[in-house]
Amino acid sequence: MRVLLKLSGEFLAGTKGVGVSPEATRTLAQEIAAAHRQGAQVAVVVGAGNFWRGAQHGGEMDPATADYVGMIATVMNAVALQDALEQQGIDTRVQSAINMQEVAEPYIRRRALRHLEKGRVVIFGGGTGNPFFTTDTAAALRALEIDADMVLMAKNKVDGVYSDDPRKNPHAERFETLTYLDVLNQGLKVMDATAISLCMGKEMPIVVFDIFTPGNLGRLLAGEHVGTRISS
Ligand code: UDP
Repeated sequence: MRVLLKLSGEFLAGTKGVGVSPEATRTLAQEIAAAHRQGAQVAVVVGAGNFWRGAQHGGEMDPATADYVGMIATVMNAVALQDALEQQGIDTRVQSAINMQEVAEPYIRRRALRHLEKGRVVIFGGGTGNPFFTTDTAAALRALEIDADMVLMAKNKVDGVYSDDPRKNPHAERFETLTYLDVLNQGLKVMDATAISLCMGKEMPIVVFDIFTPGNLGRLLAGEHVGTRISS
């Protein structure tokens, strides 16, 4: 089993909301380490919402430049997560789509595959390397490139896809399975439309699950139905 796990930057911030919380990052690393020890090949794409989202600065700055700042910020998260995983005894490599050779390897697909085969967790930083995209799209793209079995869209204390925000609407309906078109047509919050379209075109399954429920990632990789599964 080979998976591509997408982590939003804000997960690394914990309750602080900004920056990197060592506790939250350790919790994530423990979940990833436990799942990895079960034998799965794990690649990770990290976002940067805890530091910077280009769209929030597009009015004040050149939008492409604002996005480059966001991409650079994802590398900070990738390196922080690498440190936390290594503290769990997991061998990791960071590959960045924006060259930063002192801190990360450049993204080289074949090399990433080799790392995965050798049992290393590969963390992809720098998003897609292009402005006007998101790390959701980077997750879909890298999942396809490494021929992952599925993209795992981690959520923070939300156990799948709902018809509405379950924290605000107690009547929100939870879905066990959905099709890509359901997600697009109903505007459900899974990943952005570019990323969903990419997955739909290549029939890459997506699972939306709560990574902060201990053992959830491990159960998912052991084949249990966890969260909401999206396919054609
Ligand atoms: N970004 C980008 N191209 C990419 C990926 C990310 O320009 O391929 C920039 C964009 O500004 C984005 C920021 O990096 O807002 C952080 O990524 P994202 O918002 O996806 O992070 P998340 O919400 O998952 O933490």
